[in-house]
Amino acid sequence: EKRVVLITGCSSGIGLGLAVRLASDSQHRFKVYATMRDLSKKEYLLECVRDCHADTFEILQMDVTDQQSVLATTEKIKEERVDILVCNAGIGLMGPLECHTYDTMKKIFDVNLFGTISTIQAFLPGMKQRRSGRIIISSSVGGLQGVPFNDVYCASKFAVEGFCESMAIVLQHFNIHVSLIECGPVNTNFINNLHASDPSDSQLQSVDSDTRSLYAQYLQHCQTIFQDVAQDTDEILQVFVEAIEASVPSLRYFTTQFFMPLIKLKLQSASGSEYVHAMHKFVFSGSKPKE
Ligand code: NAD
Repeated sequence: EKRVVLITGCSSGIGLGLAVRLASDSQHRFKVYATMRDLSKKEYLLECVRDCHADTFEILQMDVTDQQSVLATTEKIKEERVDILVCNAGIGLMGPLECHTYDTMKKIFDVNLFGTISTIQAFLPGMKQRRSGRIIISSSVGGLQGVPFNDVYCASKFAVEGFCESMAIVLQHFNIHVSLIECGPVNTNFINNLHASDPSDSQLQSVDSDTRSLYAQYLQHCQTIFQDVAQDTDEILQVFVEAIEASVPSLRYFTTQFFMPLIKLKLQSASGSEYVHAMHKFVFSGSKPKE
């Protein structure tokens, strides 16, 4: 019997890649429900799965911020169960805090946090009943460590981490495994899709000049980091597959070791000051702490 997988945010990037990867599994082990908010964006995905078996793949509309849409989706699963739920939909927000509107900040939390929570809420009762299930989350290194000018995005991903870690404790009783995939920078359209303050942005012009110059330095750093260490989607998908295939999956999977010294520093020095200094040095003077 095929394992039924439902993935959110499949019109691009990691979600699209994972849907294609699992639908084209050589042993046809999966039935993939690739969901997306806007079905008018399905063409590229359809093209990618052109050669897949028809019974391994289906596209459904689902906006993670719309509870009706999430509930309606649960009714459309022919197998009446989801074995592997992949909460992937997410958006970024970058820039000085002064530039973010309340509505934009709320939208980030609506998609990244409440979208993830309500998707899980919808599919959890079935998993509990069957005493089996996997929940996999596209999380971020920014969900474990603060990143300058990504305050609100990081806050939303930290929240997802806290939510999942808490849930995982009780879900052990139900044989349901929660796994967070901690991605660093990935070569997807994420960086183009995110809300970012543009240097020509009028809101940015009204921010103090020190902050503006730090933000300019950050953007430079970000560009360098993406050039030097951004991973291809395939590398990320391999880690998802590892979590899916593991007999006992871990709570966290790291797609890259690059940020590990910073993450360890945070754990080793509980006061947090060392992390804050080290991250400042890394972003604004280009020196990264060693292992
Ligand atoms: P992406 O922008 O290509 O994919 C995000 C997807 O989420 C898009 O298809 C978008 O349409 C969808 N989405 C947004 N709002 C939605 C909604 N309300 N309902 C349903 N879908 C919605 O970027 P990606 O890199 O593939 O990002 C996927 C996940 O990986 C995100 O959660 C992101 O935070 C995480 N991540 C990405 C990176 C990176 O550098 N690309 C790094 C760390 C974590």
